[in-house]
Amino acid sequence: MENDKVLDVKNLTAAFSIRKKEYEVLHDISFSVRRNETLCVVGESGCGKSVTTLCIMQLLPKNGHITGGEIILDGTDLTKLSKKDIVKFRGKKMGMIFQEPMTALNPLLTIGFQMKEMIKLHRGVDNKEAERIAVEYLKKVGIANPESRLKQYTFELSGGLRQRVMIAMMLSARPDLLIADEPTTALDVTIQRQVLNLLNDLKKDMNAGILFITHDLGVVSEIADRIVVLYAGRKVEEGTTEQIFNDPRHPYTIGLMKAVPDVDSDEYNIEPIPGTFPNITEEIPGCRFSPRCPYAGSCKLCTTEAPEGVEVEEGHFVACHLALRKESPNE
Ligand code: SF4
Repeated sequence: MENDKVLDVKNLTAAFSIRKKEYEVLHDISFSVRRNETLCVVGESGCGKSVTTLCIMQLLPKNGHITGGEIILDGTDLTKLSKKDIVKFRGKKMGMIFQEPMTALNPLLTIGFQMKEMIKLHRGVDNKEAERIAVEYLKKVGIANPESRLKQYTFELSGGLRQRVMIAMMLSARPDLLIADEPTTALDVTIQRQVLNLLNDLKKDMNAGILFITHDLGVVSEIADRIVVLYAGRKVEEGTTEQIFNDPRHPYTIGLMKAVPDVDSDEYNIEPIPGTFPNITEEIPGCRFSPRCPYAGSCKLCTTEAPEGVEVEEGHFVACHLALRKESPNE
């Protein structure tokens, strides 16, 4: 299993400087992505999902920096690479699919030009072979008439088609890791399903690992093999999709599950998590979730000590002082 790891994030810590003060945005985050596996990172806006991907891609804004830990991609620690070397890794070893395809596509260039440049850069082939590969990958993502699509500009395509083109472009470089940051949020439900099915098929076909970032638990249930739950820059739970959905142990994960509407029920059944998400500048002693946690009063440590992650069953980690106690929130 160890050799299957495409990405190994170890004790990653990152901070932003705001008005000359440092604020930690990620604290001691560890997880891995294996080949032929989709790992979903979930949590509310601001939990650290996107900052995690920006750390991996080495695309943090100027006031952000990694302050500790390692990001190992195929045996290389990305945190040790120069800016020049990391550029070689992007595209070739890791591709990124954004929520908005226009982040990655240039409206002034044809689809064919952009795809061929990407393929020539990362696969070292001539123009003719690059065109053949571009057609092959547009077919793979289910685009009809790929030869004529290559001559089109992005404004001539629908949102769903643009997303497919971006996926085809990223995959054509044959990356080992695909990072998808909320890739289906802007799409309607039918296209969303098509893109999720496509990613599932391609993962198997290309033997790649997918790191999928989303706040949408409906999407997670369809695509994830394993799940990492983040809260306020900390990993609070990790497990297989079955463990997280059938036996969530952290009060935050339990709250997230209760906040998802049951589409099979006629009743209004959403229970929002009480309180508000902490601001990056807010100092909270002990567990960061304690101001919103219904169980905080049952353990003195909740407001004095940050909980460490413990393995409650094989592959299922929970960072909560009550995780191993009888009065565990899910009992
Ligand atoms: Fe709630 Fe305490 Fe567990 Fe934090 S450590 S989630 S406050 S019970």
